[in-house]
Amino acid sequence: MADAAGALRAAAQQLSEISDSPRLDAELLMAHALQIDRAELLLKLPELSVPAIFSALVSRRQTSEPIAHIIGKKEFWGLDFLVTPDVLIPRPDSELLIEEAVRLLAAQHPQRILDLGTGSGALLLAALSEFPAASGIGIDASSAALQIAHNNADALGMADRARFLLLDWTLPDWTGASGSGFDLVLANPPYVATGAQLSADVAQYEPHNALFAGDDGMDDYRIIIPALEKLLSPTGIAMVEIGFDQAVPVSELAIANGYDIELKKDLGENDRLLILRP
Ligand code: GLN
Repeated sequence: MADAAGALRAAAQQLSEISDSPRLDAELLMAHALQIDRAELLLKLPELSVPAIFSALVSRRQTSEPIAHIIGKKEFWGLDFLVTPDVLIPRPDSELLIEEAVRLLAAQHPQRILDLGTGSGALLLAALSEFPAASGIGIDASSAALQIAHNNADALGMADRARFLLLDWTLPDWTGASGSGFDLVLANPPYVATGAQLSADVAQYEPHNALFAGDDGMDDYRIIIPALEKLLSPTGIAMVEIGFDQAVPVSELAIANGYDIELKKDLGENDRLLILRP
């Protein structure tokens, strides 16, 4: 059997054609093939040989299939989340919502958290991991996504504090079912303009109903932002993820609905988060 270090180098070379992070991709696939974590892989690399399945995993990645789908999980906020094509893959940029929630709310011990469009449950469960006294509700219009969120709550030992509801905010009166008085509302709704060009791994493999939000990518904000009034407690805060070019229109919408706003950039210096306070 070939040595793992050499195979990693060759795979990284092959994957550089389709990926911005070819070496990391190769390492994650190799660790998965060996059923060890990446830290152990890097530590033991000189003594490891290549499992037979590795080249098949690399071939899948070469077709732009996301790493998270091939290995069935994605790390977010230091936690492992199960991921399938039914949910959006949690993005590192979305960790900004949790970082800011912790910064703003740590001293206030939030009790009730709502995650709008919870998908894999990543935002809700990451927030619950930071606020041990809190419980939360994740809503989503996809029952397949909620099954993944349930599984994640179980696997992370938070099933007793997380509830998931099948709820479609394009239907009337949805806020009646979601409850009210939330100290923290998190939302990473669909916000991509329907005609936008996405990279192949996103466009071909991720759920379009979690991505696209009408001609200007604003359809879901136009529902969620006016609804916050019914959802937030009088001192509650909402953390809404936005597209890099949406700071102006989403801020205008929030201000028109009577909110004080604060804008935050992600690690790539893109506008990514709008914080809304009543
Ligand atoms: N950030 C995602 C992307 O760039 C979009 C996520 C969303 O629409 N909520 O593909």
